[in-house]
Amino acid sequence: MKTMNIASPNHTQRYTRPIQLIVLHHTATSPHTGLAVARLFSARAAQVSSHEIVDTNGTIYHCVDWSQRAWHAGSGSWQGHGDVNSISLGIEIVNRGDGKDPYSDLQLKSIASLIRRMQAKYPTIKPWNIVDHESVSSAGKIDLRSNFPAERLMWMVIHPNLTIPAKMKVYPWMLPKWARIVCADIKAQKGPILR
Ligand SMILES: [Zn+2]
Repeated sequence: MKTMNIASPNHTQRYTRPIQLIVLHHTATSPHTGLAVARLFSARAAQVSSHEIVDTNGTIYHCVDWSQRAWHAGSGSWQGHGDVNSISLGIEIVNRGDGKDPYSDLQLKSIASLIRRMQAKYPTIKPWNIVDHESVSSAGKIDLRSNFPAERLMWMVIHPNLTIPAKMKVYPWMLPKWARIVCADIKAQKGPILR
């Protein structure tokens, strides 16, 4: 999986710690490429960023060092924390965000790899502390939509070396309870149930 570094100046130091959360977003921007989003984030005037961007072909654009506070979550809260950016890592997923645009397995594989690396580096990110933007936003953000294949993603997080046969669907009951809860939260677009 290919990774490119395109640094974004849009970050500050974290005001609170520890890092506890991974927030998933869709880009819904035009033009519809990871490079275009990375270039947008590299402009100071944009005033937005995320740590990582995952393109439709699985290419990862690394924009902000994980130790830093990227500007992806905006206003909102999670579990009583009012500064979501300080306690989280943000992953932007290139997708039209229309509720129909499909997510490729290459893309999911790269997201799963990032999640595993983030959790390995920061054990304070509990396995179930993966949410979508809407779950932590008070600004009316609607990402992710219900067509996001949360079950397939969680399968790949849990079983990095097992490929899902092309015609096999991943049903929630094939996953451990915490992963089922993550999937339910992402699909229902509400906050996490487990703490
Ligand atoms: Zn978002």
